[in-house]
Amino acid sequence: MAIKPILQIDNPILRRKTNRVNKIDKTVLRLVDDLIDTLETADGAGLAAPQIGVSLRVAVLWLPDEEPLVIINPEIIKRIGTRDVDEGCLSLPGYQGRIKRANSVSVKCLDIEGNPMKIRANDLLAQALEHEIDHLDGILYIDRMDDPRKLSKVEPDEKKTSKASNSRGISIGATNKDTSNPAMNGEAHAE
Ligand SMILES: [Zn+2]
Repeated sequence: MAIKPILQIDNPILRRKTNRVNKIDKTVLRLVDDLIDTLETADGAGLAAPQIGVSLRVAVLWLPDEEPLVIINPEIIKRIGTRDVDEGCLSLPGYQGRIKRANSVSVKCLDIEGNPMKIRANDLLAQALEHEIDHLDGILYIDRMDDPRKLSKVEPDEKKTSKASNSRGISIGATNKDTSNPAMNGEAHAE
């Protein structure tokens, strides 16, 4: 178990489509531990294996007040609706962008013991699932922006810094803004 450096946006590993896991062996279990350890120290709701340099189809979701959710070989089998969300990424800290995500998703995957699992999710979990599964396909959220120049900088004083304070919010990066309008339709901020 170890905290790994999180690869940043210009790293080509982030652009590779990952390989499916054939067997949940010790290497995969160690990878899952590393993802959880690394995510615990980072300000995000999820982390995908390529972000710590491993091109395997594995990710961990970890929402406030929840246990870590490990997904192996995930595929989105259904998306319903769309909404605008502000999204960030631990591989591009300090920024966020507005993109469209589904209202809800269904995902099939394996759990850590290799059992088939189906997840139906909406709100924050749906967004995090789409974000992490995108990573496994070499896609970053900026690819989904109409205009990547519209990335907005998240001011340091708006950053949420600690998991312990239960304030990770939505992102997948340290990108929640307290100034956003919570009444906005489809907004996925957890606050
Ligand atoms: Zn990300």
